[in-house]
Amino acid sequence: SGIGNSAASRDKAYYLHPYTNLKTHEDVGPLVIERGEGVHVFDDSGKAYIEGMAGLWCTSLGFGEERLVEAATRQLRKLPFYHAFTHKAHDPGIDLAEALIKIAPVPMSKVFFTNSGSEANDTVVKLVWYYNNALGRPHKKKIIARQKGYHGVTVASASLTGLPHLHRDFDLPIAGILHTDCPHFYRYGQEGETEEDFATRLADQLEQLILAEGPETIAAFIAEPVMGAGGVIVPPATYFDKIQPVLKRYDILFIADEVICGFGRTGSMFGTQTYNLQPDIITVAKALSSAYLPIAAVMISEPIYQAMVRQSEKIGTFGHGYTYSGHPVSAAVALETLKIYEERDIVSHVRTVAPHLQDGLRRFRNHPLVGEVRGIGLIAGVEIVADKATKAPFDPKVAIGAHVARFAQEHGLIVRAMGDTIGFSPPLIITSAELDELVAKFGKALDDTVSFVTDKGLAAVA
Ligand code: PMP
Repeated sequence: SGIGNSAASRDKAYYLHPYTNLKTHEDVGPLVIERGEGVHVFDDSGKAYIEGMAGLWCTSLGFGEERLVEAATRQLRKLPFYHAFTHKAHDPGIDLAEALIKIAPVPMSKVFFTNSGSEANDTVVKLVWYYNNALGRPHKKKIIARQKGYHGVTVASASLTGLPHLHRDFDLPIAGILHTDCPHFYRYGQEGETEEDFATRLADQLEQLILAEGPETIAAFIAEPVMGAGGVIVPPATYFDKIQPVLKRYDILFIADEVICGFGRTGSMFGTQTYNLQPDIITVAKALSSAYLPIAAVMISEPIYQAMVRQSEKIGTFGHGYTYSGHPVSAAVALETLKIYEERDIVSHVRTVAPHLQDGLRRFRNHPLVGEVRGIGLIAGVEIVADKATKAPFDPKVAIGAHVARFAQEHGLIVRAMGDTIGFSPPLIITSAELDELVAKFGKALDDTVSFVTDKGLAAVA
């Protein structure tokens, strides 16, 4: 048998899976997904699943969108590759950059393309440093991110990420990256505190951190409008209203990581609009191409660009770029994706159907295992607890979230467990009826979890 003809290509042993417990994986093996259609994917036995996570928060137009296939094919025939180094360009890159600047939620000036969200945020770290060098303040370099924020896995973007298990084994974060508190009221709100008080306290804590470090050393603050991989954490309504003036006061750039929220997920084109943000830099990925091909981007404001031009004049080339920055086939697919969002008014669609997810899941609020249901638009999280009154979790060794996800899978629904929180982020094209079905399947998974917990005699950790 030649290459690609061997049954061994399906063998779990040859594939080093990202973000996978390799020991467990040795026993259970992967779920092999063979094809997709609309909001459904099908495994190699033909079983259908609702893709309740749009893959990894990304296939917003679902599977089998022929216009994207055609856009890719056309571009593959015309010009399958060209780069954008040393004054070169190609139409798909030029057109996509223009489209992004047009739909940007605040005035943006230039677009830098990367292949992934991690690379986009990694690029941002360098841009922020370059910018402050250009302004002649090389000491102003530290970047503040947040506990439970997720910004990627390259060395710099993993450092921005605020998840301890992504730092622990890798000697991260790198120097100059700090983390401030996570705006999760259910978990971190104090006795007697309102959400508003909590937001005020977090803004004060951010200011204390800035003052303790010295404002002249802090360059930027990065945040997802709604935190995704940290467990779908929706900030208090006034959180960003309180954070942003602190940043302004100390001349600190605001970077909005729109990798998940971008392109309709929260019920606005960008999370920036949902929370009235004024970012200086925006990163996007995932839904930019509905994930049909890898592409991501960094958008920067005019003052940042102008400083970069001056720096470029002083020291020469801006020494950063990837072979596949703005790959023409990816760019052509992304451009077509943005056209489809506009033509189908995806934002209105999200607003119309979202109550079927949000209200549907909130009906489980009284469920004995459900601590909190949170979400906005077509992103949601359900946090599983062992004791509703005390919010005590199950022993982490039980990995209760993984069990819920497994039961959901048995009922034909793919969701993602982030610790004890189950994440939902279906394709944005999902219908109300499909969302009702998704919620019903999740209800069955919760019932199975009750039986599982009872059978095993599991209880809250003391
Ligand atoms: N930022 C956010 C908010 C993300 O959710 C992700 C991916 N889950 C990333 C950055 C990193 O993107 P990628 O996996 O494409 O590198």
